[in-house]
Amino acid sequence: MLKLSIALAFALTASAQVEIAVHINNNAGLASAQVNKAMKIAGRVFVPLGIAVRWSICDPACTETGSVPTFIMGLAGPQLEMPVPAALGFAMLATGKGNRAAVSLPRIEDFAEANSVPMESVLAYSIAHELGHMITRSKEHSTGVMRAKWDKENAMRMGQIRLEFAAKDGAAMKAALQSRVSPARVTE
Ligand SMILES: [Zn+2]
Repeated sequence: MLKLSIALAFALTASAQVEIAVHINNNAGLASAQVNKAMKIAGRVFVPLGIAVRWSICDPACTETGSVPTFIMGLAGPQLEMPVPAALGFAMLATGKGNRAAVSLPRIEDFAEANSVPMESVLAYSIAHELGHMITRSKEHSTGVMRAKWDKENAMRMGQIRLEFAAKDGAAMKAALQSRVSPARVTE
């Protein structure tokens, strides 16, 4: 009983780190150096939130294993039809467990080129944005990473790896993950 209380208290502490797993499905055949760079940048965006991302690349199919919340991110080429004009990606919140999203590499490349920032940075922030939707299971938009449509200023910050989640979005994500993670830990 004591052990369980300690585990619960630890899980609910704001400073406690929570872990998520993200599987990258590289459908568009993006060079692995670029995928790795994007994963590294996207991981850094979650560090200030106390969310550690465990990345893996699955090819050709992704299987869900493990005890941490798992999200599957498809990197898509020109064959992917985007539901919203000018969107860089979308999360499929109503499909299955709501843990799948796709980002459009042609759209990301266009945005990166138009704003003179590295493609890998825009890919990283697009992944972070869709993870934000999936973690909170919400289509809501906000400022920073969760802005509905990024502008030049946002793009510049992406290039510097300085675009951040708004504090309230970070807190909502952390709370959502803690509520998903802690009961499993307590019953272990
Ligand atoms: Zn969005």
